[in-house]
Amino acid sequence: MMEPDRMDSQTHSRGSRWLEKGDLRPTRQRLALAELLVGDGRNRHVTAESLFDAARAAGEKVSLATVYNTLRAFCDVGLMHEITVDGSKSYFDTRTDDHPHFYWEDTQKLTDAPTEQLRLASIPDAPAGTEIAKVDVVIRLRRV
Ligand SMILES: [Zn+2]
Repeated sequence: MMEPDRMDSQTHSRGSRWLEKGDLRPTRQRLALAELLVGDGRNRHVTAESLFDAARAAGEKVSLATVYNTLRAFCDVGLMHEITVDGSKSYFDTRTDDHPHFYWEDTQKLTDAPTEQLRLASIPDAPAGTEIAKVDVVIRLRRV
C-alpha cells in the first residue's frame, strides 16, 4: 500500500503538471481543483456543483462561482471539454479527445461511451458562412 504522504505528493505533482500543460499560473485554488480533477491520474466528468461539493469536502474554502470560473478557464486553455446536456446543465470532462457520452437520466451522470462503436455516416452541412466547430454525441439513457 502506498504511504499517504507519497500519495499526496503524486496527487500534487499530477495537478501542477496538468496546470503547466495549460500554461496556467498555479494559484492555490486552481491547484486544489486540479488535484481533485486529475490527481488520481484518471479522467472524470464533473459539474460545477459536484466539483464544488468535492472541494468543500476536501476542506477547500472556495465559492461555487470560483469553481465555475476555474472550470471555464480550464476549458479555455484546452485542459477540459465542456459538454452541455440540458440547456442549463454543463459537464466538464478532463478527457479532451473526441468521444461520445452516455447521459444517465435517472442519476444525471455523464460517462464515456465506447468510441469504436460510433459511426457518423453523415452530418448536415453547416449553413452558409459557418463551419462546424464541434459535434457532441450524447446518448441519453433511461432504465427499463
Ligand atoms: Zn468523457
